Amino acid sequence: MAKKILGYVELIWTCDSCGTKNPGAIKSCTACGAPQPIGVRFEQVDADSFNFIKDEALIRMAQQGPDKHCPYCGTRNLADALTCVQCNGDLTVGAKSRPSGMVVGQDAQPTEVEIDTPGSLPGFERTATPMSRGLLLLIILAVLGLCFFFMWNTFKANRTTDVNGVVLSTAWERSMAIEAYTTVTESDWLSNIPSNASAYGCSSRLKYNSSTYVPGSVESCGEPYTVDTGTGIGQVVQDCVYQVYEDYCRYETQAWVVVDTVTTSGTDAYASWPDLNLMQNQRLGGRSERYTIYFDVNGRSYNMRTSNFELYQSAVPGSSWTLAVTEGGDIRRAEPNP
Ligand SMILES: [Zn+2]
Ligand SMILES: [Zn+2]
Repeated sequence: MAKKILGYVELIWTCDSCGTKNPGAIKSCTACGAPQPIGVRFEQVDADSFNFIKDEALIRMAQQGPDKHCPYCGTRNLADALTCVQCNGDLTVGAKSRPSGMVVGQDAQPTEVEIDTPGSLPGFERTATPMSRGLLLLIILAVLGLCFFFMWNTFKANRTTDVNGVVLSTAWERSMAIEAYTTVTESDWLSNIPSNASAYGCSSRLKYNSSTYVPGSVESCGEPYTVDTGTGIGQVVQDCVYQVYEDYCRYETQAWVVVDTVTTSGTDAYASWPDLNLMQNQRLGGRSERYTIYFDVNGRSYNMRTSNFELYQSAVPGSSWTLAVTEGGDIRRAEPNP
């Protein structure tokens, strides 16, 4: 989702000592002079309207990154300051940057929001909820148990026993598709339609949502909200997506399509392909062959389907075979006995 910056607003902070609300950029209380506490949360002046800052210098300050607190006296200094304005202490080592990136006005756990400013801003550390060891162990055991259960079932279903069978009868079926080169109606995005085809019946449809701006797209944005930049100035942003529309049309084109499937069948060992008379604009399509061998195993009948013609041809009625059968009655392997 694209973050669209609407502008910057001044935030306020409340003095711990006297309760006075001070402008965000002011670093010590305007009423009692107390320094701004390190962990103070900035608030929005008015939650419903944005009084955008016009002062370029203030905006640049907000874009520079969060303020940092002096490691010696705690005074708040600008992000690019090298020495403390209060005690002249060195700020290049040990200065603590103010938290930034929280959505202003949200009291719950601060949501980390990326701020679009030159240079990266340090965010909050995310702490993972520790899961109790016992529960974790229980989950692992349950997953392992399930895995074993499925593996055992698969193993059981695929376990075969060798039995002796006698071929009772056989059957074959062979089919061929006939294709014709004809006019067909297709649908596609206008940009995908071949240039020699003419599009008709077009309607504009949502093709995809882009997180970055695309020329000609429809912008769809959520409610604006304010993000704390750590400087006392809030960045007002909107999450936007860009809906890309394109015409979706029908067009006519020439293509090979299956117009008929011809099937022949029999029960002998000499299967043949259907005899076809093709017309001028026709051609042969896909072909398929299917053979069934019926076995008798100690009075119980089994059948096996295969596309292996050679195997089928050796299934002479009355011949003896070794079959690998599953509990469910599927023949997994069949070989004629020598
Ligand atoms: Zn005060
Ligand atoms: Zn200092």
